[in-house]
Amino acid sequence: MVLLSTRDKTITATAAQAFIQGIAPSGGLFVPAEYPSFSIEDIAALAPLSYQQRALAVMAPFISDFSREELSNCIEKAYGNSFDSATPAPLRKVGNAHVLELWHGPTSAFKDMALQILPHLLTLACEKQNKKEETMILVATSGDTGKAALEGFADVQGTRVFVFYPKGGVSRAQYLQMATQKGNNVHVAAVEGNFDDAQTGVKKLFADPAFIQAQKDRGRTLSSANSINFGRLLPQVVYYFSAYADLLAQGTVKAGDKVNFVVPTGNFGNILAAWYAKQMGLPIHKLICASNRNNVLADFISTGNYDARRSFYKTTSPSMDILISSNLERLLFDLCGRDDQPVSQWMNALQTQGHYQVAPEHAKVMQEAFYGGWADDQAAAAAIGRLWRKERYLMDPHTAVAWEIYERYEAGNPDDHCPAVVVSTASPYKFSGEVLKAIDDGKTFDDEFQCTARLQELSGLPMPKALSELPSLPILHDAVCSIDAMGDTVLAITP
Ligand SMILES: *Cc1c(COP(=O)(O)O)cnc(C)c1O
Repeated sequence: MVLLSTRDKTITATAAQAFIQGIAPSGGLFVPAEYPSFSIEDIAALAPLSYQQRALAVMAPFISDFSREELSNCIEKAYGNSFDSATPAPLRKVGNAHVLELWHGPTSAFKDMALQILPHLLTLACEKQNKKEETMILVATSGDTGKAALEGFADVQGTRVFVFYPKGGVSRAQYLQMATQKGNNVHVAAVEGNFDDAQTGVKKLFADPAFIQAQKDRGRTLSSANSINFGRLLPQVVYYFSAYADLLAQGTVKAGDKVNFVVPTGNFGNILAAWYAKQMGLPIHKLICASNRNNVLADFISTGNYDARRSFYKTTSPSMDILISSNLERLLFDLCGRDDQPVSQWMNALQTQGHYQVAPEHAKVMQEAFYGGWADDQAAAAAIGRLWRKERYLMDPHTAVAWEIYERYEAGNPDDHCPAVVVSTASPYKFSGEVLKAIDDGKTFDDEFQCTARLQELSGLPMPKALSELPSLPILHDAVCSIDAMGDTVLAITP
């Protein structure tokens, strides 16, 4: 299948080329030229299959440059045994909802679902393209992508990873996960700014001819492991099909019945994968987009006006502290009839004026498919406490934002009887302090890891081994740089 750029449809790539390039030349994002279509029968046929087999069925139509066997090998390496659950994306019944737990991978957040496989897709793509240079992967992270990329790419031949995270903008566990990362091809620096600054800084480096040349002189080409890379997006489409297949297998839905997905959203990557699943034929009624106090998406969905000119808040769900949601560009492309002209204009307006407005007919299409809501820290904490008391189920603060919006949607839409799947994006242990506070056990500790121990005592939920080891590991990465010095920092640390 051919992919094309959202800002210039004459720029095309195969999937392998898109994995390598990360972002399209001149700044657009690669999208499929058309969506592969799955009939209800095709979807029903997924029910008895394993996650790996479902992944092969969903991803294969997009990747024409790999044989089925090659893709199958990548899938097996990624999902075969690095998850601590029976299947990589288990679906659990909690109250009246179904929770899709996407945090059983090595870094305890949903980013593993894509970043466990991306290195394998990328190395195979480099072989196919006969690429000799080292691939330098630049990552901006709001907390979880960084660690997942470091873990996925550590010691992968022919690659090097450089992660930027906002100084003081990630949780203690997230910081330690990155600062203690081992591997001879991994690098980490804190940026004196927020996530949007880090993301904008990385995007600028991709478009900076002097920086690109300096990398070339060092025998390197640039790529991205952020969700702007099509290789991040595609593996995420799989778990929406898989969740539906599980509901079919359990008899909760009949083939063709519609379901709702509730997704805690920051960069719009996770929920965009659900939109892709819907375009491919998955029977989805509403995509419920849940934001924290950084509620630019909730406003956009209700008004069609995207306005990033607002205060940035640090919240207890840091991986959603984002005002410029990169992957929205891919939705905009679909909303306006897959036209590159308006997308370029909107993205240009966002960059130069900080806002843009889509036409009423585009907003209408969006509002039919999406429902947007937002919850502040207090409401998220209350949701954690409520669900713990009622169902003895622990959620992390990101998932709690989604749960809160799910409950509000249900309350406001009594006529919608579609089963709801709430997407759970992080292990509660990754945010132990906040979770313990929220369940109001009467005990709190300054030390994050004492909170973890207490949570384990209360819930009996197994603690991921990688997290329990963190406090005893040496700090290996301590670089800090200003927003303007990101490029120089990369060059200084990776001569
Ligand atoms: C990244 C992340 C999100 C947001 O996902 P997007 O794809 O950026 O919308 C939500 N929760 C957690 C725990 C995350 O790591």
